[in-house]
Amino acid sequence: MAMLERNIFKEIIEGNIPANIVYQDEHCIAFRDINPQAPTHILVIPRKVIRTHADIEPGDEQLLGQLHSAVVKIAKSEGLSSYRVVINCNEGAGQTVPHLHLHLLGGRLLDWPPG
Ligand code: AMP
Repeated sequence: MAMLERNIFKEIIEGNIPANIVYQDEHCIAFRDINPQAPTHILVIPRKVIRTHADIEPGDEQLLGQLHSAVVKIAKSEGLSSYRVVINCNEGAGQTVPHLHLHLLGGRLLDWPPG
């Protein structure tokens, strides 16, 4: 699927689109994926708009650490001992929403390699 022009995740951050939010702090917000690929499928996104993984800049390092710390907290609260964190970068890797997001997947056996 092609990358959307519209940044729907920014609209979730701004409260214009509803989402099933499971965690938020000053740096990030996390909500359940609308089309889950595993029993637990949560998206963790920065409040700052970063279009793709390739648009991460020097200065974003602390923010990236905060996103991963949020993933750890959420995985614990979801009772996940095993899980996978995925970032799709650009259309060829399956990115559809132009706002950096970490997929947290768990609750089933996750095969390797992914498709
Ligand atoms: P990606 O394909 O890596 O860009 O991931 C985008 C993800 O966002 C997909 O797994 C979609 O199912 C999910 N998604 C799209 N719109 C929404 C929405 N309004 N609320 C929650 N998840 C969404």
